[in-house]
Amino acid sequence: MRIEDPKIVAMLSELGVQLKPGTSLAELTSLGIGGTTDLLRIEKHDAIPNLLNLLDSHGVPHKFLGGGSNLLVGDGELPWVVLQLVSPEPDIGLKGNFAQVDAAADLGRTVTFCAKNDLGGMEGLIGVPGTIGGALRMNAGAYGMQIGSYVRQVKLYRAAARKLETLEGDQISFEYRHTSFAPDDMMLAVKLELPSKPYREILKGIRICNEKRRASQPLGQKSAGCIFKNPPGASAGRMIDDLGLKGLNVGDARVSDRHANFFVNAGKASAKDMLALIADVRERVEKSFGVILEYEVVVWNA
Ligand SMILES: Cc1cc2nc3c(=O)[nH]c(=O)nc-3n(C[C@H](O)[C@H](O)[C@H](O)COP(=O)(O)OP(=O)(O)OC[C@H]3O[C@@H](n4cnc5c(N)ncnc54)[C@H](O)[C@@H]3O)c2cc1C
Repeated sequence: MRIEDPKIVAMLSELGVQLKPGTSLAELTSLGIGGTTDLLRIEKHDAIPNLLNLLDSHGVPHKFLGGGSNLLVGDGELPWVVLQLVSPEPDIGLKGNFAQVDAAADLGRTVTFCAKNDLGGMEGLIGVPGTIGGALRMNAGAYGMQIGSYVRQVKLYRAAARKLETLEGDQISFEYRHTSFAPDDMMLAVKLELPSKPYREILKGIRICNEKRRASQPLGQKSAGCIFKNPPGASAGRMIDDLGLKGLNVGDARVSDRHANFFVNAGKASAKDMLALIADVRERVEKSFGVILEYEVVVWNA
């Protein structure tokens, strides 16, 4: 979708929003799949209520992009614009055991920055790409931990109230790759409370997690991490592997040979290819195990 009305373009500029026309989402997502649309980069949180009023009043639909590492975006010209936060400098502040982090901050850099200041707990998240905002939305986690356990406060744009608000940790529920935020709420910053731990101990934990990832995941290939959530008490990857589906492909969309729940773009896969592969695997799992796998990847279909 293109914003061409000069009045809207001028108002975006007044709000300090950068307009990047015709941006390829294939270049902004770890799967390397996705069509084109206008990208709106937001520099000031305070501009968000006015920006959304502007878009709504002109009938411009939008989606919200973090680091693009858990997304499968449709092909071709996309029927909505994409909003993304610009990371301020600095994007992390520490006070005692609390870290105040902007939602646009890189997750991995946040984990290592806190570690270097003897704050641990998030070792499992090393190697998870994306932003703090995306990690909050998805309640990112690995190796028995999840970011939600450390969240004490979230500053966000509440779509229902159309204003910026601050929620305390106990007002938010964090479940397995699911949170109680409304779908169109926008996370802007978070206060994390992290346990004190000497850096060298945290580093040990980080190295163990890195090693586990290297041993089991197709890290050099384009993916969005796990495609499906694990059903209660079972492993989606194990079920797909048991059916002998590693290597199954539709065009360049392929079930990874290393990790059966990672689907990779082995060349020039389209969203159509990837969606067909996902549907095929899902159907085979349902037929053999009677389990309907739920998506972990977020699909933005055109
Ligand atoms: C190699 C690889 C390994 C991975 N390993 C793991 C893992 O171990 N554990 C795990 O949990 N995930 C894993 N992932 C998936 C992914 O990295 C996480 O889900 C990550 O937290 C997504 O963050 P993001 O900023 O990239 O979000 P995006 O992919 O940009 O967006 C994901 C969703 O969050 C929303 N969103 C993003 N930012 C905001 C915001 N500020 N406010 C509101 N909504 C927002 C988007 O609208 C979208 O719905 C992996 C991915 C890859 C490629």
